[in-house]
Amino acid sequence: MTLTEKLLARAAGQAAVQAGDNIWVKADVLMTHDVCGPGTIGVFKREFGQTAKVWNRERVVIIPDHYIFTADSKSNRNVDILRDFAREQGLPYFYDVIDDPNGHWQFDTSKGLLKKQYGSNYAGVCHAALPAKGHTRPGEVLFGTDSHTCMAGAFNEFATGIGNTDAGFVMGTGKLLIKVPETMRFRLEGKLQPGVMAKDVILHVIGEIGFDGATYRAMQFDGPGIASLSMDDRMTIANMAIEAGGKNAIFPFDSRTAEYVNARTSLNGTKQAYEPVEPDADQKFVYELVVNLDQLEPTVACHPDPGQRKKAKDMGHLKLDRAYVGSCTGGKTSDFVEFARVLRGKKVVIDTFGVPATPDIVRDLQSTRWGHQTIWQILEEAGVRMTENAGCAACLGGPVDTFGRINQPGLKCISATNRNFPGRMGDKESQVFLASPATVAASALTGHVTDPREYLTN
Ligand code: SF4
Repeated sequence: MTLTEKLLARAAGQAAVQAGDNIWVKADVLMTHDVCGPGTIGVFKREFGQTAKVWNRERVVIIPDHYIFTADSKSNRNVDILRDFAREQGLPYFYDVIDDPNGHWQFDTSKGLLKKQYGSNYAGVCHAALPAKGHTRPGEVLFGTDSHTCMAGAFNEFATGIGNTDAGFVMGTGKLLIKVPETMRFRLEGKLQPGVMAKDVILHVIGEIGFDGATYRAMQFDGPGIASLSMDDRMTIANMAIEAGGKNAIFPFDSRTAEYVNARTSLNGTKQAYEPVEPDADQKFVYELVVNLDQLEPTVACHPDPGQRKKAKDMGHLKLDRAYVGSCTGGKTSDFVEFARVLRGKKVVIDTFGVPATPDIVRDLQSTRWGHQTIWQILEEAGVRMTENAGCAACLGGPVDTFGRINQPGLKCISATNRNFPGRMGDKESQVFLASPATVAASALTGHVTDPREYLTN
């Protein structure tokens, strides 16, 4: 069996499964957020009753992150609905925007978009917060009401996005009927070269198979190249499995996985026991691709879908209007480090926005010094508009007052985010070009798509 099949067989209590089997699997964690949480709660209450209790209060994790820093009253109210539910159910893992369990969330526009407006429990973008808060464990099954839930496959778990109806069912029963996906294997060899990032790996892969090339399939990343990839790198790659239509992504378990998971579960007091899945000798794949990391170059996915692959060095003709670094895919500390490495001591020439994925990342950037400056100061001095209000922000457009949202037609944005279908970051006539934080940085310095290696070698 492949890693995904082994994991699902275990979750179904069966000795073996094969692709195409329909099986009931037990959920280890159900995650929802402010966009889908109210709908999920509505389904749960409708189907299980107004006074029903969730199947396991330790396993329901609620993370508001999407439409938070906006004056839109309906968006603010969604956070209140989540708070009411968490209080009613006694949920220990609700990462509220505010500290008062009886309060109401209201974004204060008079304070502006840059200075932080959240309390001490706020966790930021769900997919970055889940591992950071100790909710991702090898060998487990994670369902989330968000398509990029697949990011947690970096931790050797089965993680996939589900709709509100399925999530309402999981909330009440702790299980779900799913079809075992076929597995595609991506064998990574070699090591990434300077200026090339994990984002380039996944943009390369999606360029190979197309934005629907893995529809309802597991994407298994393995091979000797995995050892050189950090957990952040693996998260970036797993995050975008859904951009090829993938049901899930999965990585093997190794000492890096263990180090990260052990540290985060013990720091946050979450469940520490887990049982990874190891590869079998006789795995059957429907597709295999060898990716030589040494040979990859900075890559761009052009408007209008993530499969429109080109090399950054061949895109110099494309003039840009703005640059954006942020999201679960591209807003991690390591992403901002590479962004800052290129920008240090220089000035951007187009509007450039930086949105850390979580409050912890804000703290990292504001406390890590390179010489006499913090990384945050280096980025601000380069002209980047950095916000402390960690969250999804303009990654998915959002209400019209969202930080970094593209509100004018025709603008071209190079972005470290993960999705570039028309209208994704705001105006439906705008265009988004996906790239690594290093490529976004180099492009922000020139105003056109630029290979970051031009800056690293000088
Ligand atoms: S940062 Fe973007 S991709 Fe990630 S959860 Fe938020 S909206 Fe979705």
